[in-house]
Amino acid sequence: MIIKFKKSATVEQIQASKNWLIKKEISFQEIDSDNYTLLLLIGDTSHISIDTVQALEGVAEVRVIQEQYKLASRTFNQYDTIITLDNGVKIGGENFLVMAGPCSVESEEQIMEIAKSVKKSGANVLRGGAFKPRTSPYSFQGMGVEGLKLLEIAKKETGLAIVSEIMEASQLKYFENVDILQVGTRNMQNFELLKELGKIDKPVLLKRGLSATYQELLMSAEYILAGGNKKVILCERGIRTFETGTRNTLDITAIPYLKMKSHLPVIADPSHAAGLSQYVESLSMASTVSGANGLIIEVHNDPKNALSDGAQSITPIQFDLLMKKIVKLRKVILDD
Ligand code: PEP
Ligand code: MN
Repeated sequence: MIIKFKKSATVEQIQASKNWLIKKEISFQEIDSDNYTLLLLIGDTSHISIDTVQALEGVAEVRVIQEQYKLASRTFNQYDTIITLDNGVKIGGENFLVMAGPCSVESEEQIMEIAKSVKKSGANVLRGGAFKPRTSPYSFQGMGVEGLKLLEIAKKETGLAIVSEIMEASQLKYFENVDILQVGTRNMQNFELLKELGKIDKPVLLKRGLSATYQELLMSAEYILAGGNKKVILCERGIRTFETGTRNTLDITAIPYLKMKSHLPVIADPSHAAGLSQYVESLSMASTVSGANGLIIEVHNDPKNALSDGAQSITPIQFDLLMKKIVKLRKVILDD
């Protein structure tokens, strides 16, 4: 339930409503707004009637949010959330963001070469995994802190913002200079990690779990938002289906669905969805047309010898061609 107070509501009237809620043992969050006060009631509100709340002094309007995810829902905020990075890059609304880079940071030469080329092609954010969640314990686990340092060097050299995956809250201290913290598929429901990320003021890229429903993804976003961090980006990265021809199946429907139900930016990851580089272009185009607010694409200068996800990585030349197509496509979409 959301309580909107009249512009003319006095501090005393608002406080009296808060006291009434406290007496009824209902938790609430006060939402900042230029013109009026909003109170978002959290938890079970079934024991209070809308009419009673409506009758409280100073109340202008009462709205019921049906969804379990409240802060993430469009009912709560009808306007698209727009997140601005430190370097001015905007995510959400009409803005289109492209994150590109290798699955894993492997060396300074590798990350620098890729960073420079994806920047030239128009990417806004450099991706690169340092802590890698691998299916096999024998696979490359990432360069760790050293990998993050190399990303920071690439950031300094190119001016690109950087995104990297955090696997547990104890790693937060290493992510000070990382612009966007990625929560990977396997951690989408690591609620303790989500709660910690709710306490910081940094964008979080939340990837959909391998077999998570839309509702589960939005509830995970809610964990971060409920902690006070409003900068959440949702990511459709393919789900597990009965199909074995590709690594996963890109659920295109997720894009318009999530945008309809939530005000948060939604981006697509065609690389992990397909698992094969030859499909990355088509899936990128499809995601763009479906209304995605951006893409995250794996690009490697030597895919055959990549230490992780080489099969799905496109080359810098392929990325450049793809970006040119995306730019044309965006023009058509925006002209509409
Ligand atoms: C990645 O981005 O390299 C990654 C491991 O992604 P996901 O969590 O979607 O598998
Ligand atoms: Mn990867």
